[in-house]
Amino acid sequence: MSSLQQALKKYFGYDTFRDGQEEIIAHALANKDLLVIMPTGGGKSLCFQLPALLKKGVTIVVSPLISLMQDQVTSLQDNGINATFLNSTLDYNEVRRREDDILAGKIKLVYLAPERLVSDRFRDFLDRINQTISISGFAIDEAHCISEWGHDFRQEYRQLKQLRSRFPHVSLMALTATATPRVQQDMIRQLNLRNPTIRRFSFNRANLYYEVQSRHKRTHPQILNLINRISGSGIIYCFARKTTEELAEGLQKNGILALPYHGGLSDKIRAENQDKFIRDDVQIIVATLAFGMGINKPDVRFVIHHDLPKNLESYYQESGRAGRDGESAKCILLYSSSDEVKLNYFIKQKENLAEQKIAREQLKKVLAYAETNYCRRIVQLGYFGEKFKGDCEGCDNCLNPPQKQDWTIESQKFLSCVARTQERFGAKRIIDVLRGSKGKKIYEYGHHLLTTYGIGKDHSEEEWKHLARSLVFQGLVNQTNDGYNILKLNKQSWLILRQKKKVEIAISNNDNLSQIKKESPRQLQAELLLERLKQLRKKLADRENIAPYVIFGDSTLKLMAQMQPQTLNILGKLSGITEYKLNKYGNHFVQEILAFSHEQIMPSALPSNTQMKTLQLYQQGLTLSEISHKRGFSISTITEHISELIELNQPIDINNFVDQKIQQEIIKGINQIGDTSLKIIKEHLQDMYNYDQIKLVRAWYRRQKRENYT
Ligand code: ADP
Ligand code: ZN
Repeated sequence: MSSLQQALKKYFGYDTFRDGQEEIIAHALANKDLLVIMPTGGGKSLCFQLPALLKKGVTIVVSPLISLMQDQVTSLQDNGINATFLNSTLDYNEVRRREDDILAGKIKLVYLAPERLVSDRFRDFLDRINQTISISGFAIDEAHCISEWGHDFRQEYRQLKQLRSRFPHVSLMALTATATPRVQQDMIRQLNLRNPTIRRFSFNRANLYYEVQSRHKRTHPQILNLINRISGSGIIYCFARKTTEELAEGLQKNGILALPYHGGLSDKIRAENQDKFIRDDVQIIVATLAFGMGINKPDVRFVIHHDLPKNLESYYQESGRAGRDGESAKCILLYSSSDEVKLNYFIKQKENLAEQKIAREQLKKVLAYAETNYCRRIVQLGYFGEKFKGDCEGCDNCLNPPQKQDWTIESQKFLSCVARTQERFGAKRIIDVLRGSKGKKIYEYGHHLLTTYGIGKDHSEEEWKHLARSLVFQGLVNQTNDGYNILKLNKQSWLILRQKKKVEIAISNNDNLSQIKKESPRQLQAELLLERLKQLRKKLADRENIAPYVIFGDSTLKLMAQMQPQTLNILGKLSGITEYKLNKYGNHFVQEILAFSHEQIMPSALPSNTQMKTLQLYQQGLTLSEISHKRGFSISTITEHISELIELNQPIDINNFVDQKIQQEIIKGINQIGDTSLKIIKEHLQDMYNYDQIKLVRAWYRRQKRENYT
């Protein structure tokens, strides 16, 4: 282990750095200026926090939002790290006390807002710090706020420019999750960074699952259905305040703890609702876009958009509030073609024509995201200039590719109708003609006389709309970008009309979400334990008046539920657990795990059919390889069956599979390192035994242990 890795485990409990962190930290330790561009949840904070702890003196962290800085400081303090913040919520005496602590060298990280940093009074204080205990670095979080090109420009950030000249020997690190190159250049210039090391990471958030569903007319049951299949905290974003209220009420009626959040509520109610959400007192917040900036809740497990977002950058940011802890989370967009009409209406209200044009371009890209039949990440990351190869295995289209249908004939009808109406209309009119509408406009233009009038009654308006959108997105017909969306035939259209090209459109199979996986008894047990550990965490958090995630993140609890460490020593080895936290909370969790395993007298689950077949063959006296041959499964699959059967207390004698001596060695190993993953046990035993042997003996070990409790 390198010394940096040791420090990582000591202060943050993690075993390994994420991509790029170690290098960034090394540069910071070498006093270089840095610009770090990493997506939300990438692990930016650690990049300045760890150097702050390793360097002499105090690091100053600039953060734009009071709530964020308080959260970060609480999390650090709960890891035994001396951090503090200075902001307007503190009274004079408290500020003085904290300043004294800083000057006494008791503090490693100080968080503050930019306006305080550049205030006259604080300037003197900074000089004093620098002379007495020295400033080890400046970290400018959310550094894009300095740029007018960014999405939340803040005037106060501009004055940070002084830092570089006032403290020429102190390194500056700017951090952001904003992707546009223009803003990046601006940050370097505005902060006057000195020959900075620039590290830009992919914006792909691999732990997020993306899905688009067409929004049903009855939205509440649709959303309810979605929520019932996901667990954990979630945000539902709605366009209108009224919708948030109605939806929250509807969910409450169905026994789901949900609260609204929007600009029309009083500050007090908003703050209360937000706080309840962060503390897991309610599961869901139904909000307008007013919600989210500055919400530090890393364990949001899903974000549902009730309406189409106005551009892809906002969608990325809003949906990106899910899964900041790196654990898997779902982002679901509900979309109806009426959204397009509504957004177009708002665009037309803009007075500035150039702005209208930009907004329309943006809308087009959102639609491309919603409509694509390919990997959603290609469109999403393409927006940030990243070329993604597709096949992400984390979006609806990749996991469950839409089926294609031949719609060549319908396309010919459609396109010929475009031709007959002189390429002067949008899809709506074309569809009206095809479906034989009796509207006034139809007669005014004489469209009822066209040969294509009424030839498309066999399909619904929705189906035709779907075809029209597919044609546009596949480039098989052009659409003007002047707000009128007039359809124009192109070369491809003519190929179709001349029978030289076929058209396939995707019929999406809605309801993609959560293909229910069959879980092994062991997994079910882990789920049960996880729930209990979460309850314990909530209880401890309430007692200390902090948010549950501050105690342990979801990933750490999950590890605990899987590994079920029964001693403090083994618990302390898990990723995410520092010695400080082990001392503070370890006992509570170990006790809970012990209690749980005592209660798990016998798994109630029965063997599955396929396991039963394996069992029958075993009872007929067949060997492993004979069973595998007979059943046409690999040896390792049959070993898996046998292990599960052993755990399920089925009549299987381990001695038929593993030599007694080897059993003893493996059990000795498990007793030393704990009932953990096969890989860890195997490594611990210096690769003396293979996975199959370990798997069988571990199952036997579990069964014995359970029997000892009964
Ligand atoms: P950002 O500021 O980039 O949005 P954070 O700094 O909040 O991201 O980190 C996101 C999550 O990842 C946090 O829960 C953090 O504890 C976790 N994390 C950061 N670095 C590591 C690491 N090396 N190993 C495991 N988890 C990490
Ligand atoms: Zn994909």
